[in-house]
Amino acid sequence: MVQKTFQMEFHSEYSQTEEAALNAEFSRLNGKCYLDHAGSTLYAKSQITAVQEFLTGNLLCNPHTSRSTGDLIDQVRYRILKHFNTRSSEYSVIFTAGATASLKLVAESFCFDPSGVFVYHHDSHTSVLGMRDIVGTKRVDPIEREQLLANLLGQGRTTNQNASLLVFPAQCNFNGIKYPLELVGKIKQDGLAGYDQERFYVCLDAASYVSSSFLDLTKYQPDFVCLSFYKLFGFPTGLGALLVHREAAELLHKRYYGGGTVKIAMAGRNFHVKRDSLVDRFEDGTIPFTSIVSLLQGFDSIERLVPSVREKRSIERISEQTFYLGRYCYDRLRSLRHVNGSEVVELYHDSAFEDVAQQGGIVNFNVLHDDGSYVGFAEVAYMASVHNIVLRTGCFCNPGACQRLIGLTDEDVLRHFDAGHVCGDANDLIDGQPTGSVRLSFGYMTRKEDVDRLVEMIEKCYVKILVPSNISRKQITSSYKNYDQAVLKMICLFPIKSCGAFKITTGWPLCRKGLKHDREFVIVDENGVVLTQKKLTEMCLICPKINLETNELTLSHPSLSNFVLDMNSLENTTGSQPIVLCETKVCMDDVQAVDCGDEVADWISIALQISGLRLLKQSGDEVRTFQQTSKEIALSNQAQFLLINQSSVRWLAEKVPEWDDLQVEPTLESLVDRFRGNLIIETGPRAMEEIQWNRVTIGGHEFTVDGPCSRCQMICIDQTSGIKTTEPLRTIAREFKGKMRFGVYLSHDSSYKVSSDEKLLYCGSAVQGKVE
Ligand SMILES: *Cc1c(COP(=O)(O)O)cnc(C)c1O
Repeated sequence: MVQKTFQMEFHSEYSQTEEAALNAEFSRLNGKCYLDHAGSTLYAKSQITAVQEFLTGNLLCNPHTSRSTGDLIDQVRYRILKHFNTRSSEYSVIFTAGATASLKLVAESFCFDPSGVFVYHHDSHTSVLGMRDIVGTKRVDPIEREQLLANLLGQGRTTNQNASLLVFPAQCNFNGIKYPLELVGKIKQDGLAGYDQERFYVCLDAASYVSSSFLDLTKYQPDFVCLSFYKLFGFPTGLGALLVHREAAELLHKRYYGGGTVKIAMAGRNFHVKRDSLVDRFEDGTIPFTSIVSLLQGFDSIERLVPSVREKRSIERISEQTFYLGRYCYDRLRSLRHVNGSEVVELYHDSAFEDVAQQGGIVNFNVLHDDGSYVGFAEVAYMASVHNIVLRTGCFCNPGACQRLIGLTDEDVLRHFDAGHVCGDANDLIDGQPTGSVRLSFGYMTRKEDVDRLVEMIEKCYVKILVPSNISRKQITSSYKNYDQAVLKMICLFPIKSCGAFKITTGWPLCRKGLKHDREFVIVDENGVVLTQKKLTEMCLICPKINLETNELTLSHPSLSNFVLDMNSLENTTGSQPIVLCETKVCMDDVQAVDCGDEVADWISIALQISGLRLLKQSGDEVRTFQQTSKEIALSNQAQFLLINQSSVRWLAEKVPEWDDLQVEPTLESLVDRFRGNLIIETGPRAMEEIQWNRVTIGGHEFTVDGPCSRCQMICIDQTSGIKTTEPLRTIAREFKGKMRFGVYLSHDSSYKVSSDEKLLYCGSAVQGKVE
């Protein structure tokens, strides 16, 4: 096998002492590998302590009230300008809600000449694309990368007058390519090739660039600079700036005026006079002064943690460090090969990381199978999350760069949209073609080990895929007898959402919402947020059991003695109150729930080693409907029942090549457990046939199939230990061409008039799937 050699060393810009100090600052990462700094970088611990000390040690007032707070804010403006090597005589700092708000402000207020033109770079952020619809001119043109770069040559001083606007990014947030800032001066002076009558003002989208590069506004002087501060130092969010060069100030016209922006306004007559200074005119209302003053600690912290050495500023050192990390990562990924010699990743770059002036610390790619087909980015994201790696996937709000670099035509994009793909979803492959990619981005505290972990994850999940061996699989291939008839093997309920299963091999009542007591309880943290196993894998170690005769809920945990909760005491709903239950995505309003008391709360807090947890029980007749089916469900996420076919799990297990994360091969039962199904059936040799069904009868009960289950991340958690493994998800993804689906959702035909109606469902009942 011929293998190219790549530069695989990593030279850190930091000293060992600096690295140690950084590790201490970000100890909250606690084993997590964070690689989404282009999404948002992290704030340092000492930064937040300093903010707290500042806010608690100073009296801050509304700057319209207190001159001293106003002065403090002016100091912050001065500090920002200093960071960009300029002065208040050159640039004004208008505080905004972020880069997007700054871009919007320019779009709303720039005074185009009646025949002026708005030109934007094709590879722009969505927030720039949105400017097209509100700018004050009808002439709107995109400019391609090569066309833009061609202007570096210049063409002689322009005398053109028609005020026009060009927007381009200083660094592309998709793949980190930096645009030569010499363009700014050239275009301001010479105009833009192809536009003979126009004088161009330049708006630089610096949001991605300034996060880890030095923007020298003495050397390069764009008319407008847009940025967000959380991309520099993580805190505060919701604050950005529009820097306006003095020569361009008169081009910004403001229509709306808010508090603080006028010299006089009258209530009875529509009369006002705006303030003279640009900043005073543009900052409507009370600016976020507590956030603004916190910027000082942000600048301080990066300068303290990465101090300037010799002639190099701290931001320049950060720029080098993140570039080195990017190059190291790029080279390692580029060198990966499948056993057959084919490449493992397809990289989407405009530079091969030769020069820090041209490339920032962002690496963008898709993973390939050994036959050259794509691995969907959603699958890579799942794998990364199993490995505690945070990365970003999709198109990163940069449809132009995404299309150009992945090679999608406009028709492809429309076809993907037609097929149901929208920005931000998990529709990662359509007809084998990627709709987006994987992005890694580095911050000033990223370490070489973080890159190593990412590369090792890709190697482990995608390079060393072995073919299934014929080693004896005692447990899994346990012989099944002639199954003429599919049967219901087991009923599992999850009385407490995200905790262990209560397995039943006899019978259990069905009620209006599904299985009686299924997901009736939730554990919430002290802020009332529902805990889930996805975030807290140890939840599976709490096993609830229900005794229908005594109406008791017994909780067990490997390291505690059992706790028995008398559910009769909860039936009395006088203690019930409407609460808002929040999960990562959904908040359900006004769920009627009863708090189950201090004793069980303490037991659970000890079991999970988190203080302040509470156990809540959904009370009485409370009904939640699932948007798409309008079927009544308890607190489960998707549907009334999840049906899992044990035969399909067996089929899947036989295809898993290697249980790399586990000491012993899992049993079939433990694998079935991972799917957290409610109805476990066995169809003998007919694996996967449930996928075809649209109706099912089980022991005389009729069910409708609502669709396949695609919540597969949970199956990476071994339900007896809480350990995360990459299998069997990796095999599911491979077998189903990136579509991660296993098991089907059911709802039962509602012949249940009232919530007290119950019918018994028995294990051993015949299962009949129908394809209608
Ligand atoms: C992040 C980013 C934006 C948008 O910034 P917000 O903070 O989301 O307003 C715009 N352009 C580029 C290049 C970015 O990286």
